[in-house]
Formats: sequence, C-alpha cells, structure tokens
Amino acid sequence: MTIDIGLIRHSWSLIEPVADQVTKHFYGRLFANYPHIRELFPPAMDLQRDRLFHALAQVVLNLEDGDGVGDYLGQLARDHRKYGVQPEHYPAVGDCLVAAMRYHAGELWRPAYDEAWMTAYKFIAEVMIQAAEQDATQSPPSWVATVVAHEVRTPEIAVITVQPDQPYPYRAGQYATLQSAHWPRVWRPYSIANAPRQDNLLTFHVRMVPGGWVSTALMHHTRPGDSLLLGPPRGSLVLDRASTSHLIFIAGGTGLAPLKALIEESVWVPDRPAIDLFHGVRRSVDAYDNEDLQRLRSDHRRLRIVHAISDDPDQWRRQSAVDALEYHRIVPDGDVFVCGSPDMVRVTANRLLGLGVPLHRIHTEFAPGGAARFAVL
Ligand SMILES: Cc1cc2nc3c(=O)[nH]c(=O)nc-3n(C[C@H](O)[C@H](O)[C@H](O)COP(=O)(O)OP(=O)(O)OC[C@H]3O[C@@H](n4cnc5c(N)ncnc54)[C@H](O)[C@@H]3O)c2cc1C
Repeated sequence: MTIDIGLIRHSWSLIEPVADQVTKHFYGRLFANYPHIRELFPPAMDLQRDRLFHALAQVVLNLEDGDGVGDYLGQLARDHRKYGVQPEHYPAVGDCLVAAMRYHAGELWRPAYDEAWMTAYKFIAEVMIQAAEQDATQSPPSWVATVVAHEVRTPEIAVITVQPDQPYPYRAGQYATLQSAHWPRVWRPYSIANAPRQDNLLTFHVRMVPGGWVSTALMHHTRPGDSLLLGPPRGSLVLDRASTSHLIFIAGGTGLAPLKALIEESVWVPDRPAIDLFHGVRRSVDAYDNEDLQRLRSDHRRLRIVHAISDDPDQWRRQSAVDALEYHRIVPDGDVFVCGSPDMVRVTANRLLGLGVPLHRIHTEFAPGGAARFAVL
C-alpha cells in the first residue's frame, strides 16, 4: 500500500483553513449516519473537535516518519480503547472524514484525493486496530481507581492520591487521563506526581480552573472512597532523555507534578545527578507542596530547591521560575525539564535558548527541542 504523500499534503492545504467547519461537518455526518457511535463521545464536543484535527495534523505532517507515525498511532489506539472504539467503527469514520473534506474543499477537490485519503486512512486504521488488539492482551482499556486521600492544599489546589484496582505500569514523568463519575465520558490529562511505588499509589496535583468541568469535580466533589477512571499512561517527559550530571527542573504551578516524579526517580539512579528545581507560583499561598518538597530534599542531598513568586504584592522580589534561575546565577549547563501552562513553557523555553541552552537539551511534553513531536491529548 503506497500512500501518495504529495496528494495528501496538497488536499490538506485546502482544508486546513476551514478545519473547524470540516470537523463539525464530520461529526454531524458521523452521528447522523451512525447514531450508536455518538454514545462513545462526551456530551460537549468542542475539545473533541480540536483533538481530531490535532491528531490528523500530526499524522499528515509526519507521514514520512514511518516509525514515529506508527508509535503515535499505537498510543492513540491504546488510548481510544477506553472510549470503547471497535474495529467496525473505523470504516464509518473514514467515509465521513473524506466526505467532510470533499464537501468543504468544493470544486478544488480532485478525485485522486479520495483515493489517496482512503489509502492513507486504511493504513491508519490497520495500525490502530492491530495496536489496540495487542494492547488488549496486556492491559485493561481503563483502570478503576479508589481515592485514598484528598488534601485541599489551597482554595484552588487539591492533592489527590488514588489506588488503581490493578497494577498501573507507567514511567515517572508521564500523565494519565482521568474521568470523574460526575462527568461520564469526559477525560482530562493530569500528570502523575510520584515515581512508581511498591504500593501502586498514584498522586495528582489538581488546580481548579474556574468553570472547569473535571478540575472542579476533582476539587470539590471528590472524597476518599470515591472511584475515578484512569486511562493508560501517556507522555514522554522521562528521565532517559537526560544525559548530563546536572539537571535543571523548571515548574510553573502544578507543572511541579511530573518534575517531582522525576526527582523521586533520580534518587535511585546510580551516580545520581545534581538537581536544581525552580518552582514558580503567582502568590506565596500558591506554594502548595513545600512540606513534601522539603522531605524530598532530605532524601536527595544533591537537590536544591528555589521558590519564585511572580505576582504577590507582599513580596519585594517578584520573579518567575526562569527569572530565579538567572537571579541565582545557576549556569544551565545540563538538561533542562520545563513543565507548566503552555504559555509558561513557551516563554521559559525561549529564555533558555537566549541563555545559550541548546534546543535538544530543553525537554517539555509538547514541543520545543527534544520533546515528543507526537502528543496524544
Ligand atoms: C499533558 C497534560 C498534563 C496536565 N497535567 C495537569 C496537572 O497535573 N494538574 C492540573 O491541574 N492540570 C493539568 N492539566 C490540565 C488539565 O488536563 C485540564 O485541562 C484542566 O484541569 C481543566 O480541565 P476542566 O475539565 O476542569 O476544564 P474545562 O471544562 O476543559 O475548561 C473550562 C474552561 O476553562 C478554560 N481552561 C481550561 N484549562 C485552563 C487553564 N489551565 N487555565 C485557564 N483556563 C483554562 C477552558 O478554555 C474553558 O473555557 C494537564 C494538561 C495536559 C495537556
């Protein structure tokens, strides 16, 4: 099966500017023609539409990278098991997708695009079905997890610990999608804040977003004894990416979670690296994890922790985490891991580049340098 990448890219350039209409049209057609498929999707479709486009773009833009696309589709397939996706759903999706693209490209659509897309889609479907089948022999589609601790650390941040019903194999630095019983079929990613432990417990740091569906349910309507659903582990912000003996971790808010997991893991690494952790928060009351961080510090003598407060009128020195790095004259001569809001990550990565850190030494979940080019949301 040969995919005509040129035709795929050309047709993609026609529909990219109208992606929003294409995805709306696609879902409208899919649910009208195959109403039973609607049950697999969340009640509100906005984020889902973005995800579909994001996933398609990842595949189209990286078609030459056979292994990368294969891994990405494998992750996507494993993740989609939790939605109850079955092999018989794939042809329906392919037909509706091509029909939606053809409709919105109008007269510019050429018959050759149909064939190119159907060939590409057949390849995508085969890889995904195979990956899902293989995964089904090893893992459940999702894990039921019981909340064993729910600590309200600030009016906006809760630290939640759960016990999955079966072993949950993951790497320090990864994230899991969570579903609360309050919002069936709505999944959101949250980083796991601890390295894998003997007792199989997982901790999450959740910041409540005003009006946010899942974060509000987790903050205000979740108690010990409640059940949550966990999707399979995702992400590639793992310690293997580092090769230097000095590591710098820069966290914004709950972006601390995966970096804390990496610090925990690094305690067990032979020749453990020296670590500088910069944790940036807006106000001093937002520094929600100081006690635990101090405990971590006593296990890890080569760990230095610097807090940065960016927006508190009571503080005479206001700075972001990356400002603090410069202020303390820490030379960023090793691998740097950055985690926080997309804006914080972008700004920090640019500052680091300006300080002379090579792109391949800046590690984030979703981009700049050595990051995963493929991300499953
Ligand atoms: C890989 C990854 C890891 C993540 N890890 C964590 C984590 O460890 N801890 C954590 O608290 N969150 C984390 N998030 C964010 C989390 O997945 C949710 O997006 C967040 O909790 C909001 O979900 P919600 O359902 O409450 O809000 P939604 O119902 O999705 O959104 C409600 C409204 O709030 C807006 N909104 C959404 N997110 C934000 C935001 N961050 N700031 C301001 N407005 C927003 C939306 O645009 C919308 O208008 C992570 C995200 C990713 C992609």
